[in-house]
Amino acid sequence: MTSYSSQPGDARAYSEEARLSVLASYDILDTPPDSAFDEITELAALLCDTPIAVINFVDRDRQWFKSEKGLGIKETPRDISICAHVILQSELFIVPDTHQDPRFVCNPLVTQDPPLRFYAGALLNSPDGLPLGTLCVLDHRPRELTEKQQVALTTLANQIMKNLELMRIQQEQASLIQQLQFAQQELIHLAATDPLTGLYNRRAFKERLSQEQSLIQRGRAPAALMLMDLDNFKVINDDFGHEAGDKVIEHFASVCKKVFRQADVIGRWGGEEFVVLLPGTTETDACQAAQRLHQLLAQNQIEYDGNTALFITVSIGLCSLSKDCPLEEALRLADELLYQAKDQGRNRTVTR
Ligand code: GH3
Ligand code: MG
Ligand code: MG
Repeated sequence: MTSYSSQPGDARAYSEEARLSVLASYDILDTPPDSAFDEITELAALLCDTPIAVINFVDRDRQWFKSEKGLGIKETPRDISICAHVILQSELFIVPDTHQDPRFVCNPLVTQDPPLRFYAGALLNSPDGLPLGTLCVLDHRPRELTEKQQVALTTLANQIMKNLELMRIQQEQASLIQQLQFAQQELIHLAATDPLTGLYNRRAFKERLSQEQSLIQRGRAPAALMLMDLDNFKVINDDFGHEAGDKVIEHFASVCKKVFRQADVIGRWGGEEFVVLLPGTTETDACQAAQRLHQLLAQNQIEYDGNTALFITVSIGLCSLSKDCPLEEALRLADELLYQAKDQGRNRTVTR
Protein backbone atom coordinates (compact mmCIF):
# COMPACT_ATOMS: atom_id res chain seq x y z
CA MET A 1 0.00 0.00 0.00
CA THR A 2 1.39 3.39 -0.91
CA SER A 3 1.84 5.67 2.02
CA TYR A 4 2.05 9.32 1.09
CA SER A 5 3.71 11.25 3.80
CA SER A 6 4.25 14.88 4.29
CA GLN A 7 6.80 17.14 2.73
CA PRO A 8 9.31 18.37 5.32
CA GLY A 9 7.39 20.59 7.73
CA ASP A 10 3.99 19.17 6.78
CA ALA A 11 2.00 16.69 8.80
CA ARG A 12 -0.02 14.74 6.22
CA ALA A 13 0.20 11.00 6.26
CA TYR A 14 -2.46 8.68 4.86
CA SER A 15 -2.88 5.57 2.82
CA GLU A 16 -3.55 6.31 -0.85
CA GLU A 17 -5.76 3.22 -1.11
CA ALA A 18 -7.90 4.45 1.81
CA ARG A 19 -8.13 7.89 0.17
CA LEU A 20 -9.21 6.36 -3.15
CA SER A 21 -11.77 4.15 -1.48
CA VAL A 22 -13.33 7.10 0.38
CA LEU A 23 -13.39 9.06 -2.89
CA ALA A 24 -15.13 6.11 -4.61
CA SER A 25 -17.70 5.95 -1.80
CA TYR A 26 -19.05 9.38 -2.80
CA ASP A 27 -19.77 8.07 -6.31
CA ILE A 28 -18.99 11.49 -7.73
CA LEU A 29 -16.45 10.69 -10.45
CA ASP A 30 -17.78 10.94 -14.02
CA THR A 31 -21.16 12.26 -12.90
CA PRO A 32 -22.86 14.90 -15.10
CA PRO A 33 -22.53 18.63 -14.42
CA ASP A 34 -24.54 19.90 -11.46
CA SER A 35 -25.54 23.53 -10.89
CA ALA A 36 -24.94 23.12 -7.11
CA PHE A 37 -21.22 22.75 -7.90
CA ASP A 38 -21.12 25.14 -10.88
CA GLU A 39 -22.44 27.94 -8.67
CA ILE A 40 -19.54 27.40 -6.27
CA THR A 41 -16.89 27.59 -9.02
CA GLU A 42 -18.62 30.71 -10.32
CA LEU A 43 -18.49 32.25 -6.86
CA ALA A 44 -14.85 31.21 -6.26
CA ALA A 45 -13.76 32.89 -9.54
CA LEU A 46 -15.78 35.98 -8.68
CA LEU A 47 -14.47 36.32 -5.11
CA CYS A 48 -10.84 35.59 -6.04
CA ASP A 49 -11.13 37.62 -9.25
CA THR A 50 -9.63 34.87 -11.43
CA PRO A 51 -10.63 33.76 -14.96
CA ILE A 52 -10.45 30.10 -13.94
CA ALA A 53 -11.97 28.11 -11.07
CA VAL A 54 -12.15 24.31 -10.80
CA ILE A 55 -13.61 21.69 -8.47
CA ASN A 56 -11.32 18.78 -8.95
CA PHE A 57 -11.06 15.27 -7.54
CA VAL A 58 -7.76 13.44 -7.63
CA ASP A 59 -8.33 9.89 -8.88
CA ARG A 60 -5.66 7.15 -9.07
CA ASP A 61 -4.22 8.26 -12.42
CA ARG A 62 -6.07 11.44 -13.28
CA GLN A 63 -7.65 14.55 -11.88
CA TRP A 64 -11.31 14.84 -12.83
CA PHE A 65 -13.23 18.12 -12.75
CA LYS A 66 -16.71 18.06 -11.30
CA SER A 67 -17.08 21.68 -12.32
CA GLU A 68 -14.81 24.09 -14.17
CA LYS A 69 -15.00 27.66 -15.30
CA GLY A 70 -12.58 29.01 -17.87
CA LEU A 71 -10.53 25.84 -18.41
CA GLY A 72 -12.57 23.98 -21.04
CA ILE A 73 -11.41 20.44 -20.17
CA LYS A 74 -12.92 17.68 -18.00
CA GLU A 75 -9.78 15.93 -16.76
CA THR A 76 -5.99 15.72 -17.05
CA PRO A 77 -3.49 12.99 -16.27
CA ARG A 78 -2.50 13.04 -12.62
CA ASP A 79 1.23 13.43 -13.34
CA ILE A 80 0.75 16.94 -14.77
CA SER A 81 -1.73 17.95 -12.05
CA ILE A 82 -0.82 20.82 -9.75
CA CYS A 83 -3.67 19.78 -7.45
CA ALA A 84 -2.07 16.36 -6.94
CA HIS A 85 0.74 18.26 -5.22
CA VAL A 86 -1.77 20.08 -3.07
CA ILE A 87 -3.21 16.91 -1.59
CA LEU A 88 0.23 16.19 -0.19
CA GLN A 89 0.46 19.67 1.24
CA SER A 90 -1.37 22.09 3.48
CA GLU A 91 -5.05 23.10 3.58
CA LEU A 92 -4.47 26.05 1.28
CA PHE A 93 -1.68 25.81 -1.28
CA ILE A 94 -0.68 28.92 -3.19
CA VAL A 95 1.80 29.20 -6.04
CA PRO A 96 2.11 32.95 -6.75
CA ASP A 97 4.16 32.38 -9.91
CA THR A 98 4.55 28.92 -11.43
CA HIS A 99 7.52 30.13 -13.49
CA GLN A 100 9.39 30.72 -10.25
CA ASP A 101 8.57 27.31 -8.77
CA PRO A 102 10.90 24.45 -9.83
CA ARG A 103 8.11 21.88 -9.20
CA PHE A 104 5.89 23.37 -11.93
CA VAL A 105 8.16 25.20 -14.29
CA CYS A 106 8.21 22.28 -16.76
CA ASN A 107 4.53 21.36 -16.29
CA PRO A 108 2.73 21.41 -19.71
CA LEU A 109 -0.10 23.47 -18.18
CA VAL A 110 2.53 26.05 -17.21
CA THR A 111 4.43 26.00 -20.50
CA GLN A 112 1.29 26.03 -22.70
CA ASP A 113 0.01 29.20 -24.32
CA PRO A 114 -1.47 31.00 -22.46
CA PRO A 115 0.41 29.55 -19.47
CA LEU A 116 -1.12 29.00 -16.04
CA ARG A 117 1.00 31.29 -13.89
CA PHE A 118 -0.98 31.56 -10.67
CA TYR A 119 -2.52 28.73 -8.65
CA ALA A 120 -4.39 28.65 -5.32
CA GLY A 121 -6.06 25.43 -4.15
CA ALA A 122 -8.08 24.68 -0.99
CA LEU A 123 -8.37 21.04 0.05
CA LEU A 124 -11.59 19.04 -0.16
CA ASN A 125 -11.21 16.93 2.96
CA SER A 126 -13.45 14.00 3.84
CA PRO A 127 -14.86 14.09 7.43
CA ASP A 128 -12.05 11.77 8.53
CA GLY A 129 -9.46 14.09 7.05
CA LEU A 130 -8.62 12.38 3.76
CA PRO A 131 -7.89 14.84 0.94
CA LEU A 132 -10.09 13.98 -2.04
CA GLY A 133 -9.37 16.94 -4.29
CA THR A 134 -9.34 20.71 -4.36
CA LEU A 135 -11.30 23.80 -5.10
CA CYS A 136 -8.75 25.87 -7.00
CA VAL A 137 -8.54 29.18 -8.77
CA LEU A 138 -6.02 29.90 -11.52
CA ASP A 139 -4.83 32.89 -13.49
CA HIS A 140 -2.65 33.52 -16.52
CA ARG A 141 -0.59 36.10 -14.62
CA PRO A 142 1.40 35.89 -11.39
CA ARG A 143 -0.46 37.26 -8.37
CA GLU A 144 -1.53 36.78 -4.74
CA LEU A 145 -4.78 36.23 -2.82
CA THR A 146 -5.86 38.60 -0.07
CA GLU A 147 -6.53 37.13 3.35
CA LYS A 148 -10.28 37.49 2.79
CA GLN A 149 -10.05 35.68 -0.56
CA GLN A 150 -8.11 32.86 1.12
CA VAL A 151 -10.85 32.52 3.77
CA ALA A 152 -13.52 32.61 1.04
CA LEU A 153 -11.80 29.85 -0.95
CA THR A 154 -11.41 27.61 2.12
CA THR A 155 -15.03 28.22 3.17
CA LEU A 156 -16.30 27.34 -0.30
CA ALA A 157 -14.19 24.15 -0.25
CA ASN A 158 -15.90 23.19 3.03
CA GLN A 159 -19.29 23.87 1.45
CA ILE A 160 -18.45 21.49 -1.40
CA MET A 161 -17.73 18.71 1.09
CA LYS A 162 -21.02 19.42 2.89
CA ASN A 163 -22.80 19.13 -0.47
CA LEU A 164 -21.08 15.82 -1.12
CA GLU A 165 -22.04 14.49 2.32
CA LEU A 166 -25.68 15.51 1.80
CA MET A 167 -25.74 13.85 -1.62
CA ARG A 168 -24.35 10.68 -0.11
CA ILE A 169 -26.97 10.65 2.66
CA GLN A 170 -29.70 11.19 0.05
CA GLN A 171 -28.36 8.31 -2.05
CA GLU A 172 -28.20 6.05 0.99
CA GLN A 173 -31.77 6.99 1.93
CA ALA A 174 -33.01 6.37 -1.60
CA SER A 175 -31.33 2.98 -1.64
CA LEU A 176 -32.79 2.09 1.79
CA ILE A 177 -36.27 3.10 0.64
CA GLN A 178 -35.84 0.93 -2.45
CA GLN A 179 -34.73 -2.03 -0.33
CA LEU A 180 -37.71 -1.52 1.99
CA GLN A 181 -40.13 -1.37 -0.93
CA PHE A 182 -38.59 -4.53 -2.35
CA ALA A 183 -38.85 -6.33 1.02
CA GLN A 184 -42.45 -5.15 1.35
CA GLN A 185 -43.32 -6.52 -2.11
CA GLU A 186 -41.60 -9.77 -1.18
CA LEU A 187 -43.61 -10.00 2.06
CA ILE A 188 -46.87 -9.30 0.25
CA HIS A 189 -45.98 -11.99 -2.28
CA LEU A 190 -44.99 -14.51 0.42
CA ALA A 191 -48.15 -13.84 2.43
CA ALA A 192 -50.27 -14.65 -0.64
CA THR A 193 -48.34 -17.66 -1.93
CA ASP A 194 -48.37 -21.36 -1.17
CA PRO A 195 -44.68 -22.18 -0.64
CA LEU A 196 -44.77 -25.66 -2.20
CA THR A 197 -46.48 -24.78 -5.48
CA GLY A 198 -46.08 -21.03 -5.84
CA LEU A 199 -49.87 -20.85 -6.36
CA TYR A 200 -52.19 -18.49 -4.45
CA ASN A 201 -52.82 -19.76 -0.94
CA ARG A 202 -56.36 -20.17 0.37
CA ARG A 203 -56.54 -16.72 2.01
CA ALA A 204 -55.27 -14.85 -1.06
CA PHE A 205 -57.49 -16.89 -3.38
CA LYS A 206 -60.57 -16.09 -1.27
CA GLU A 207 -59.70 -12.40 -1.43
CA ARG A 208 -59.38 -12.57 -5.22
CA LEU A 209 -62.63 -14.52 -5.36
CA SER A 210 -64.60 -11.91 -3.41
CA GLN A 211 -63.15 -9.14 -5.60
CA GLU A 212 -64.40 -11.03 -8.63
CA GLN A 213 -67.80 -11.46 -7.05
CA SER A 214 -68.09 -7.71 -6.39
CA LEU A 215 -67.22 -7.05 -10.03
CA ILE A 216 -69.83 -9.58 -11.18
CA GLN A 217 -72.45 -7.93 -8.92
CA ARG A 218 -71.61 -4.66 -10.71
CA GLY A 219 -72.11 -6.16 -14.16
CA ARG A 220 -68.98 -8.05 -15.13
CA ALA A 221 -69.57 -11.34 -17.02
CA PRO A 222 -69.97 -14.46 -14.83
CA ALA A 223 -66.89 -16.50 -13.98
CA ALA A 224 -66.39 -20.25 -13.67
CA LEU A 225 -65.19 -21.87 -10.48
CA MET A 226 -63.50 -25.27 -10.18
CA LEU A 227 -62.84 -27.20 -7.01
CA MET A 228 -60.35 -30.00 -7.67
CA ASP A 229 -59.18 -32.89 -5.50
CA LEU A 230 -56.41 -35.34 -6.43
CA ASP A 231 -57.66 -38.91 -6.59
CA ASN A 232 -56.37 -41.55 -4.19
CA PHE A 233 -53.58 -39.28 -3.15
CA LYS A 234 -53.20 -40.95 0.22
CA VAL A 235 -52.01 -44.10 -1.58
CA ILE A 236 -49.08 -42.17 -3.10
CA ASN A 237 -48.07 -40.92 0.32
CA ASP A 238 -48.49 -44.39 1.82
CA ASP A 239 -46.64 -46.26 -0.95
CA PHE A 240 -43.87 -43.82 -1.85
CA GLY A 241 -43.62 -41.48 1.10
CA HIS A 242 -44.53 -37.91 1.86
CA GLU A 243 -41.73 -36.53 -0.33
CA ALA A 244 -43.20 -38.28 -3.39
CA GLY A 245 -46.58 -36.83 -2.38
CA ASP A 246 -45.09 -33.33 -2.36
CA LYS A 247 -43.56 -33.92 -5.79
CA VAL A 248 -46.97 -34.97 -7.13
CA ILE A 249 -48.55 -31.80 -5.74
CA GLU A 250 -45.84 -29.69 -7.42
CA HIS A 251 -46.34 -31.59 -10.69
CA PHE A 252 -50.09 -31.04 -10.57
CA ALA A 253 -49.58 -27.32 -9.97
CA SER A 254 -47.22 -27.04 -12.94
CA VAL A 255 -49.69 -28.86 -15.23
CA CYS A 256 -52.43 -26.46 -14.08
CA LYS A 257 -50.19 -23.50 -14.93
CA LYS A 258 -49.91 -24.88 -18.48
CA VAL A 259 -53.61 -25.60 -18.91
CA PHE A 260 -55.17 -22.40 -17.61
CA ARG A 261 -54.91 -18.92 -19.08
CA GLN A 262 -52.88 -16.05 -17.64
CA ALA A 263 -56.10 -14.39 -16.47
CA ASP A 264 -57.24 -17.48 -14.56
CA VAL A 265 -56.44 -17.64 -10.87
CA ILE A 266 -55.17 -20.94 -9.52
CA GLY A 267 -55.01 -21.57 -5.78
CA ARG A 268 -54.11 -24.33 -3.37
CA TRP A 269 -57.20 -24.72 -1.25
CA GLY A 270 -55.39 -27.01 1.19
CA GLY A 271 -53.74 -30.47 1.18
CA GLU A 272 -54.38 -32.03 -2.23
CA GLU A 273 -57.28 -29.74 -3.06
CA PHE A 274 -57.01 -26.92 -5.58
CA VAL A 275 -59.29 -24.17 -6.87
CA VAL A 276 -59.42 -22.25 -10.12
CA LEU A 277 -61.30 -19.05 -10.86
CA LEU A 278 -61.81 -18.45 -14.59
CA PRO A 279 -63.03 -14.86 -15.01
CA GLY A 280 -65.47 -14.18 -17.86
CA THR A 281 -65.73 -17.87 -18.70
CA THR A 282 -68.85 -19.94 -19.35
CA GLU A 283 -69.29 -23.36 -17.77
CA THR A 284 -68.94 -24.92 -21.23
CA ASP A 285 -65.61 -23.25 -21.91
CA ALA A 286 -64.36 -24.05 -18.42
CA CYS A 287 -65.36 -27.66 -18.98
CA GLN A 288 -63.10 -27.78 -22.03
CA ALA A 289 -60.21 -26.48 -19.94
CA ALA A 290 -60.94 -29.19 -17.37
CA GLN A 291 -60.87 -31.83 -20.09
CA ARG A 292 -57.47 -30.56 -21.24
CA LEU A 293 -56.27 -30.91 -17.66
CA HIS A 294 -57.51 -34.53 -17.44
CA GLN A 295 -55.76 -35.27 -20.76
CA LEU A 296 -52.46 -33.67 -19.82
CA LEU A 297 -52.37 -35.52 -16.51
CA ALA A 298 -52.94 -38.79 -18.37
CA GLN A 299 -50.14 -38.01 -20.83
CA ASN A 300 -47.54 -36.79 -18.36
CA GLN A 301 -46.01 -39.21 -15.95
CA ILE A 302 -44.15 -38.02 -12.90
CA GLU A 303 -40.58 -39.27 -12.66
CA TYR A 304 -39.80 -40.19 -9.12
CA ASP A 305 -36.61 -41.66 -7.71
CA GLY A 306 -35.17 -42.31 -11.18
CA ASN A 307 -37.17 -45.44 -12.00
CA THR A 308 -40.65 -44.87 -10.59
CA ALA A 309 -43.22 -43.31 -12.89
CA LEU A 310 -46.46 -42.09 -11.37
CA PHE A 311 -49.67 -40.99 -13.04
CA ILE A 312 -52.31 -39.03 -11.24
CA THR A 313 -55.92 -38.18 -11.86
CA VAL A 314 -58.15 -35.46 -10.46
CA SER A 315 -61.84 -35.05 -9.73
CA ILE A 316 -63.40 -31.65 -10.38
CA GLY A 317 -66.61 -29.91 -9.34
CA LEU A 318 -67.37 -27.06 -11.71
CA CYS A 319 -69.97 -24.30 -11.39
CA SER A 320 -70.64 -20.71 -12.29
CA LEU A 321 -70.01 -17.66 -10.15
CA SER A 322 -72.77 -15.26 -11.17
CA LYS A 323 -75.15 -12.67 -9.78
CA ASP A 324 -77.64 -15.46 -9.02
CA CYS A 325 -75.04 -17.74 -7.46
CA PRO A 326 -72.88 -15.76 -5.03
CA LEU A 327 -69.60 -16.77 -3.48
CA GLU A 328 -70.54 -19.00 -0.54
CA GLU A 329 -73.26 -20.68 -2.56
CA ALA A 330 -70.84 -21.29 -5.48
CA LEU A 331 -68.20 -22.78 -3.19
CA ARG A 332 -70.77 -25.06 -1.55
CA LEU A 333 -72.09 -26.15 -4.95
CA ALA A 334 -68.56 -26.80 -6.35
CA ASP A 335 -67.84 -28.97 -3.28
CA GLU A 336 -71.07 -30.93 -3.77
CA LEU A 337 -70.27 -31.49 -7.48
CA LEU A 338 -66.73 -32.59 -6.57
CA TYR A 339 -68.15 -35.26 -4.26
CA GLN A 340 -70.44 -36.41 -7.06
CA ALA A 341 -67.33 -36.75 -9.29
CA LYS A 342 -65.68 -38.92 -6.61
CA ASP A 343 -68.87 -41.00 -6.27
CA GLN A 344 -69.11 -41.48 -10.03
CA GLY A 345 -65.66 -43.09 -10.14
CA ARG A 346 -63.16 -40.16 -9.97
CA ASN A 347 -60.98 -38.77 -12.84
CA ARG A 348 -63.83 -36.63 -14.15
CA THR A 349 -65.44 -33.20 -14.07
CA VAL A 350 -69.03 -32.81 -12.92
CA THR A 351 -71.20 -29.74 -13.56
CA ARG A 352 -74.84 -29.10 -12.74
P1 GH3 B 1 -59.82 -39.25 -2.68
O1 GH3 B 1 -59.64 -39.75 -4.05
O2 GH3 B 1 -61.12 -39.67 -2.09
O3 GH3 B 1 -59.64 -37.78 -2.62
O4 GH3 B 1 -58.72 -39.92 -1.80
P2 GH3 B 1 -57.40 -39.28 -1.24
O5 GH3 B 1 -56.52 -40.35 -0.83
O6 GH3 B 1 -56.87 -38.32 -2.24
O7 GH3 B 1 -57.98 -38.38 -0.06
P3 GH3 B 1 -57.68 -38.38 1.47
O8 GH3 B 1 -58.42 -37.22 1.99
O9 GH3 B 1 -57.98 -39.73 2.07
O10 GH3 B 1 -56.13 -38.15 1.59
C1 GH3 B 1 -55.52 -36.97 1.28
C2 GH3 B 1 -54.11 -37.08 1.75
O11 GH3 B 1 -53.32 -35.95 1.35
C3 GH3 B 1 -53.98 -37.12 3.26
C4 GH3 B 1 -52.89 -36.15 3.61
O12 GH3 B 1 -51.95 -36.71 4.47
C5 GH3 B 1 -52.28 -35.84 2.30
N1 GH3 B 1 -51.72 -34.51 2.19
C6 GH3 B 1 -52.33 -33.34 2.46
N2 GH3 B 1 -51.48 -32.32 2.26
C7 GH3 B 1 -50.30 -32.85 1.84
C8 GH3 B 1 -49.04 -32.29 1.46
O13 GH3 B 1 -48.81 -31.08 1.46
N3 GH3 B 1 -48.06 -33.15 1.08
C9 GH3 B 1 -48.28 -34.49 1.07
N4 GH3 B 1 -47.28 -35.25 0.69
N5 GH3 B 1 -49.42 -35.02 1.43
C10 GH3 B 1 -50.44 -34.23 1.80
MG1 MG C 1 -59.00 -34.14 -0.26
MG1 MG D 1 -58.00 -36.63 -2.71
